[in-house]
Amino acid sequence: MSSHDLIVVGGGPAGLMAAGQAAARGLKVVLLEKKHLPARKLGITGKGRCNLTNTAQVNDFLRAFKAGANFMRFALGRFSSRDLRLFFQDLGVETVAERGGRVFPAAQEAGVVVKSLVQWVQQQGVEIRTESPVKRILSEKGRITGVALQEKSCPYRSGLKDKILAAKNVVIATGGSSYPATGSTGDGYALAADLGHSITDVYPALVPLITADDTAFRLQGLSLRNVLAEIFIQGRKEAQEFGEMLFTHFGVSGPIILTLSKAAVQALNQNLEVTLSIDLKPAVSHSQLKQRISRTMHAQGRKKLVNILKDFLPLKMIPVFLDKSGIDPDTPGSMVSAADQKKLRLWCKELRLRISGYRSFHEAIITSGGVRLSQVNPRTMESRLIKGLFFAGEVLDIDADTGGFNLQGAFSTGWVAGNSVPA
Ligand SMILES: Cc1cc2nc3c(=O)[nH]c(=O)nc-3n(C[C@H](O)[C@H](O)[C@H](O)COP(=O)(O)OP(=O)(O)OC[C@H]3O[C@@H](n4cnc5c(N)ncnc54)[C@H](O)[C@@H]3O)c2cc1C
Repeated sequence: MSSHDLIVVGGGPAGLMAAGQAAARGLKVVLLEKKHLPARKLGITGKGRCNLTNTAQVNDFLRAFKAGANFMRFALGRFSSRDLRLFFQDLGVETVAERGGRVFPAAQEAGVVVKSLVQWVQQQGVEIRTESPVKRILSEKGRITGVALQEKSCPYRSGLKDKILAAKNVVIATGGSSYPATGSTGDGYALAADLGHSITDVYPALVPLITADDTAFRLQGLSLRNVLAEIFIQGRKEAQEFGEMLFTHFGVSGPIILTLSKAAVQALNQNLEVTLSIDLKPAVSHSQLKQRISRTMHAQGRKKLVNILKDFLPLKMIPVFLDKSGIDPDTPGSMVSAADQKKLRLWCKELRLRISGYRSFHEAIITSGGVRLSQVNPRTMESRLIKGLFFAGEVLDIDADTGGFNLQGAFSTGWVAGNSVPA
């Protein structure tokens, strides 16, 4: 049995950062990655552009982590978004900040981030072994002793061979369960549970929502900008977001929907009634819109309603509105009743869609839930239960809003773990 100072399980951003930092301190480190290449998910982040962090001030940054903010405070203080940008600058990757403080590589390519990170890790002397899934983490008397893994028995054959690697320290950086094709299949939860860690309820987060009736289906492909979307749980407003969304064949997606999904998913899991209300015209009040509709109907009194509606709704929405409201499209403007004008106003200001479900881990950007934070020391990322066991990244019960916060979370926790493993 060959021995290492540290075995890192998982070659995503958290694992790569932890491995590189520990090796830079002189530790003998091996990184075990189950896919044939490391950082597959990192390579598709930010729609292939990699939104690696955010320029938000500390308090806003922490707020993005919601319930995990307290746990993250130390890690984000030790390795901040500024530190991450400098780190990549040293590797030759310039970054630029865009709308909402979102930071991307100037080259606008996630591949540049992956390549430079993996190269740096190798330069630190880390041995990266791919196609090496870890099956168990071994411990004796509350101390880490190594890992059990599978590896190819021969490069030219497909069979896998069981193997044991010895080490006093292990970092679990296996990610969550979202986008399983990238290798993140939730293995870390079982590995940690096997060592006595508790795992909080795990479910898809930042995930598209499924709507109950055919409205979204009929509007599929339509994207809306500058709208206000609100989530109502059992009739009470729970959350709201302003920005962009889109209709799909199953329901709704886009930035503001993904952000609102957390509240919706939690409520759906408790069998509560969830409704999405979309305000297409948040800049005007109900009474202003009422006047505007009435004025327009009079001014265009001879025109057919179907043509007047172009002033109020996106083209794709017009037949769906007419159908759902049961108004005759040929009605002249002057004949549109007050009740029908109200239907138009409510469609514009409170387009309500019942949410019946959410899409699976295959479409979720991140996983909510994971290794219970109270069992991990936030200053070192070491387990409070097993000596020599560390965690980094999404395997922990942390999840943040969109905007680069999740990757920063993975890098910061990886940095802390890599700098805390004893030499
Ligand atoms: C489509 C998409 C776009 C995203 N865009 C952004 C974005 O722009 N900005 C942002 O901040 N966040 C984004 N995220 C979220 C972000 O990618 C994750 O939060 C981040 O990758 C988590 O890093 P990690 O290192 O903890 O885990 P992962 O990146 O999931 O890496 C875990 C690694 O562990 C390996 N592994 C798993 N089990 C084992 C095992 N048993 N043995 C060995 N190896 C194993 C996996 O193969 C994988 O390589 C996006 C996510 C998705 C799915």
